[in-house]
Amino acid sequence: MNSSRTAAVIGAGWSGLAAALVLARAGRRVTVFEASRNLGGRARSVNLADGPHDGESLRIDNGQHVLIGAYRETLRLMRVAGVNVERALLRMPLDLHYADGFRMRAARLPYPLNLLSALLRCEAIGKAEAIGAMRMMAMLRLRKFRVQPDITVSELLARHRQSDTLRMHLWEPLCVSALNTPPHRASAQIFANVLRDGLTGRRENSDLLVPRIDLGRLFPEPAVERLRSMGAKVELGTPIRQVNRRRNRFILDDREEEFATVILAVAPQHAGALLAGMIETQEARSRIDELAYEPIVTCYLQYGSDMQLPAPMLGFSGGILQWAFDRGQLGNARHAGLIAAVISASGAHEEFSGETLAAKVAAEISVVTGRNEPPHWNRVITEKRATWSCRPGVLRPTMRTPLPGLLLAGDYLDGEYPGTLEAAARNGVSAARAALED
Ligand SMILES: Cc1cc2nc3c(=O)[nH]c(=O)nc-3n(C[C@H](O)[C@H](O)[C@H](O)COP(=O)(O)OP(=O)(O)OC[C@H]3O[C@@H](n4cnc5c(N)ncnc54)[C@H](O)[C@@H]3O)c2cc1C
Repeated sequence: MNSSRTAAVIGAGWSGLAAALVLARAGRRVTVFEASRNLGGRARSVNLADGPHDGESLRIDNGQHVLIGAYRETLRLMRVAGVNVERALLRMPLDLHYADGFRMRAARLPYPLNLLSALLRCEAIGKAEAIGAMRMMAMLRLRKFRVQPDITVSELLARHRQSDTLRMHLWEPLCVSALNTPPHRASAQIFANVLRDGLTGRRENSDLLVPRIDLGRLFPEPAVERLRSMGAKVELGTPIRQVNRRRNRFILDDREEEFATVILAVAPQHAGALLAGMIETQEARSRIDELAYEPIVTCYLQYGSDMQLPAPMLGFSGGILQWAFDRGQLGNARHAGLIAAVISASGAHEEFSGETLAAKVAAEISVVTGRNEPPHWNRVITEKRATWSCRPGVLRPTMRTPLPGLLLAGDYLDGEYPGTLEAAARNGVSAARAALED
């Protein structure tokens, strides 16, 4: 066997699977090693085997995920994996609909008409505020969305004199949802990148795409089927402990097989240990050590099947809850009455136990629905290190390492995007393409 064509991908999250697809399609002999028994990493399905749903098992996601129309690489890869993207995702124009009555809907028009019409149609926003928001976007655009690298989103909004209403209902929720970092700590530059692609790109870029099917079926499982059909191997329950270099090849733990290419596609908190044996990766390791992380809590509440929220995705402000997704309205009949309540980034909620949090979230929801019955069951899933904390001036590792053939993939690498599926997909694809060029 010609070992120059062998490639190992460590990690079967969205980034690793993206890389594996590119390599396998280019004819490399790919093996994917995944520590857990599940595919998808931080965007995976979870089986509630204890059957809270009439004794049957129920599949939910480790966290409610939302994509946007600008996620070009994620959407392309889903198609490569054979997913019918139009059926799998519910596409909605950006509609910020809050429980307190605030509502701002973007029209599917090119920029700046999309934003202008949304602002002017919103009753809670006055003309002067709307002009202020348009002016900030125009200034950002004029400067090609380059902002001072060391300022936060809060500072950016203050410099552009954004009103309280705009901050509370538009910019700050967009910041927390996209960057998973509170505005007073979040990087204004990365926020500007997201605004550029989401609001000023093609008109469908700002659409929200909410999965109708579970995350496993949205990409990881079809990707693995596709990989296997191309002869790739996917080994689950196989944690790799050490990557070693022997001449110009790589050895994983004490395996016999040698790999010409290794793509390390694990979360940053796991990457450091795998790189530890190779002195050349010192800089990447020290950058990884400097990263901080932000949590995301998803609180599932199952009510009777007739329970509905006023909108499939409803915003909350002033309490603990940020967004509630009515899974029944999102196109999955088995999820009627199931609410996925999301609390992104660090905050006061971290002090509560799961039960207290579920009770507080249920109380906020009952104010909106006017119904007092408690949920039949709840499940709180806390991902403590959901994403890297997207702060100004953070030096992140690059995809290439000084060792030819060893590349990094994952949502945390140096690049324009915050820790998202799109960053994971783009970095996976770029790492694989760089390996092929080498
Ligand atoms: C609750 C939650 C909600 C989110 N919501 C959104 C959202 O709405 N929109 C959005 O775009 N993004 C969202 N994200 C972020 C998104 O899920 C991540 O950015 C993305 O999944 C990261 O993918 P990855 O492949 O880079 O890393 P991971 O998903 O972490 O994949 C790494 C894989 O490597 C495996 N691994 C680790 N160590 C080893 C080892 N030693 N050997 C072998 N395998 C190993 C892990 O088990 C894992 O499967 C959310 C994340 C969370 C947690």
